[in-house]
Amino acid sequence: MSTTVTMIKVLLPKPFLEPFDYKAAIKVCVGDYVLVPFGRQTLWGVVWAVDTISTLQADKIKSIISVASLPPLSKTMRDFLEWTSHYTLAPLGSVLKMVLASPEALVKEEVVSMSPMTFHPHTLSPEQKAAGMAFQDAIRKQSFKTFVLEGVTGSGKTEVYFEGIKEAYDQGKQSLILVPEISLSTQWVDRFKDRFAVTPTLWHSDLPLAQRRKAWRSIAEGAASVIVGARSALFLPYKNLGYMVVDEEHDHSYKQETGVIYQGRDLAVMRAYMEKCPLVLSSATPSLETLHNIETGKYERWHLPNRHGVSVMPTVALIDMRHGKKTQGQWISKALQDAITETFSRQEQVLLFLNRRGYAPLLICHGCGHHMDCPNCSTWLVYHKSTSRLQCHHCNYQRPVPKQCPQCLEMETLSPCGPGVERIEEEVTQLFPKARLLVMTSDTLSSPKKLKESIGKIENQEVDIIVGTQVMAKGHHFPYLTLVGVIDGDLGLSGGDLRAAEKTYQLLYQVGGRAGRTHLTGRVLIQTHCPDHPVMQAIKHYDQASFLSLEAESRRTLDLPPFGKLAALIVAGKDPIATEKFVQTMASHIPHHTDLEILGPSPAPIHQLNQWHRWRFLVKAKKNLSPQKVIKQWLQAVNIPSTMKVAVDIDPYSFF
Ligand code: ADP
Ligand code: ZN
Repeated sequence: MSTTVTMIKVLLPKPFLEPFDYKAAIKVCVGDYVLVPFGRQTLWGVVWAVDTISTLQADKIKSIISVASLPPLSKTMRDFLEWTSHYTLAPLGSVLKMVLASPEALVKEEVVSMSPMTFHPHTLSPEQKAAGMAFQDAIRKQSFKTFVLEGVTGSGKTEVYFEGIKEAYDQGKQSLILVPEISLSTQWVDRFKDRFAVTPTLWHSDLPLAQRRKAWRSIAEGAASVIVGARSALFLPYKNLGYMVVDEEHDHSYKQETGVIYQGRDLAVMRAYMEKCPLVLSSATPSLETLHNIETGKYERWHLPNRHGVSVMPTVALIDMRHGKKTQGQWISKALQDAITETFSRQEQVLLFLNRRGYAPLLICHGCGHHMDCPNCSTWLVYHKSTSRLQCHHCNYQRPVPKQCPQCLEMETLSPCGPGVERIEEEVTQLFPKARLLVMTSDTLSSPKKLKESIGKIENQEVDIIVGTQVMAKGHHFPYLTLVGVIDGDLGLSGGDLRAAEKTYQLLYQVGGRAGRTHLTGRVLIQTHCPDHPVMQAIKHYDQASFLSLEAESRRTLDLPPFGKLAALIVAGKDPIATEKFVQTMASHIPHHTDLEILGPSPAPIHQLNQWHRWRFLVKAKKNLSPQKVIKQWLQAVNIPSTMKVAVDIDPYSFF
């Protein structure tokens, strides 16, 4: 006689499309975290379905080992993972891997308790108050809604979305605040502590193991009330999420470019929708995608038009670099020098911004014209003088600087071409020997401790001139910083990126926003070779609206996002000939559809990357068509050899 046993389907954090079968002698429910044997390993997975089968069939099936004592992964969360997998075309198991980001946390160890929060309110301006109340209202109603909080830099957006955190806490709900670069957010965390008398739970990929385990567990058990994190925090199993914020929603670091390729901001909207909670997208320079959603009535806009208190927006002027005498190896114009001198004499601080690490973007032989390339990538090696090395910023290949040109064998002929921050630092030292200098790049701010030290020095006025890359552009608030000088405003305008102009505008606006944030008035000077460019004009006149409508028009005519859909396929192989051949096979299977156009194959702009030869297809679809299904069929029709990688990038943001 055959009896029945419980058979469960367990999804494992591996690149599989489907769950695996196991049997369970103990009671398990859908969503439970279970430890199972897998090959010679054991793995934590999640119960995706529960069924019964006869004992006869159950013979060959392995049993689960144990069940974690944690709230099960909710139906909402499981739906969210399924949706993400469908949308990104990533295997469901790979999506689950992002949830099980700390498997150690599944083994019960410590009991995490909740620390009570208290709220020290500021008196809000009427605009701040109105927006804050709208967020609180939606939190109380537990209904989905996407708010856009738009306001100039320093207008007090952070204070406004803090109001929502308070309300969510009062309702016993968790708040998730996504920030673009959590490692740069020490000032944010300090401010939070000031207002709520507790430290928020941090989440990012560099968390030490023990802290990670603790954070994960307290998020899943509901003991963590406020979580501030990088995009990966979106996939954590919150017990009762009630409020979400995406700070600097336009920031491209929300896009994950490896593994499961996704746009964190867009997924946050879907997650909020499924959780039935409000979401705030905050920015001084909202993305065209977001503005489009305001226009079509999908998102609700709240606007803070002015800086808080007496502070006003800095004045902006362009320095035309096409004219005027140029001295070899000099990058700081006379006009900018004068402004620095003046600021320096008032004992205020200067930020010189150049979004390029190292000393020079390349070394070139002035004998034969040879340039030093990366052996693994089709890119130049960047010269870092401080370490006297050449470095590839793509694959991290490094080598010492050769004394001899490898091509013409001449000695001492390799010379730096173009500036990086180290070169600007050198120039500043020559021009202003008395000034106290600080260089802020990801090279010099390699640890949270170093960042804190640097920020402290600026706050305590131990620094006169800061030379920095984009790590200095975001979020920081320095009361004595009154002059921002942009060394090369045009950097970023060229290249095949459809968002190049928009991105440059956002970055220049952000970095300019560091100036004059208190009672001291600030100014921004931008060195450019194209002062008539719409980006420069928009920055100069604070005319975001005309610039954006121009951008939107050009995208609309070309059916580009947000008016159409894009997806990219990046095909890569180690053998150049085999890769090209395979790309041709793919091309011969290109699907045809009236609302869809597939461009390519073409060699990727960085054709060789870390020894992989890369080709790109670009899928352009009309707004009403989801390209996922077509791409899926296309990939099923070609047989992808194990030596080839095909990455699908839905809504691409980088085009290298
Ligand atoms: P944003 O996020 O829009 O750039 P912030 O929230 O950082 O602006 O605010 C800029 C500065 O103004 C901060 O130092 C903040 O503490 C202060 N501030 C904003 N709103 C208020 C308020 N209502 N009362 C007191 N200080 C405020
Ligand atoms: Zn390289």
